[in-house]
Amino acid sequence: MFLCKQTEHAEHVIKNGFSSKYIAYELRLIALYYRDKGVLPKERKEKIYEICQKHIEGFNRVHYYKEINRVITYSSNKRNKLIDIDSVPITLAELDYIGNLDIDYLCRKILFGYIVQVKLNKAKWMIKKDEDPNNEYFLYDTLLGKLMGYLGIDRSEFRKYGYQKTTDVNYYLNDNGIIEDLIGKIKLLYMYDIPEDNSIAFEVKVFEAMGLYYDLYCGIKNVKECKECSVPIKVKSNRTKYCGECSKDVKNKQNKKYYHLGK
Ligand SMILES: [Zn+2]
Repeated sequence: MFLCKQTEHAEHVIKNGFSSKYIAYELRLIALYYRDKGVLPKERKEKIYEICQKHIEGFNRVHYYKEINRVITYSSNKRNKLIDIDSVPITLAELDYIGNLDIDYLCRKILFGYIVQVKLNKAKWMIKKDEDPNNEYFLYDTLLGKLMGYLGIDRSEFRKYGYQKTTDVNYYLNDNGIIEDLIGKIKLLYMYDIPEDNSIAFEVKVFEAMGLYYDLYCGIKNVKECKECSVPIKVKSNRTKYCGECSKDVKNKQNKKYYHLGK
């Protein structure tokens, strides 16, 4: 939900607590968040203790002090920064190029996912190092497993297209000269062929839903835009108008309205 939106993630943890699995990671985010707000280390530490006390059941200072000291040291290093990427632009040239390749829809969607990912990596790199990275297009080959979730591709859909393992797709794309499958890495050969283009077709904003942006663009049925925030959503019926977040907000607003009317 907070991929490349670490400030939002930190605010969410401060308000609602930890997502138990990643406490150490989330502690680092909170520490950076307070540092960026100008909170000094001593006070930062106290704030973190307060949050832990509030949100971790049976919290014990003795068990956490080492971890929290580490987090404070981490946040005092200016090179560590919160990663906040609002959106990634997708150009018409990129979409045209993928769309004109003689490959199946699944492969096209994966190539689209790779584009989003390299752009995210580039943006992250700029935040961390404050420099322009070189213009090469490499990704780790293990990335595809994670990307499948963001692209909304499940095992059964995968098999429908005739692939057994995720690596099969990379082999196929490699055999067709679209990517180069190196040991542990892939090189996105097609990125070098796509012309520079200033016409932006759309911006991907919710990175975990990147696949739906492509589906929406390609006119896949049951995919439409949330009426409130325009994030693409998969709908089960025509009555669905909002994404999960917005439908909660809309319900809350309606409840408030009824409450006032009832008074
Ligand atoms: Zn929405």
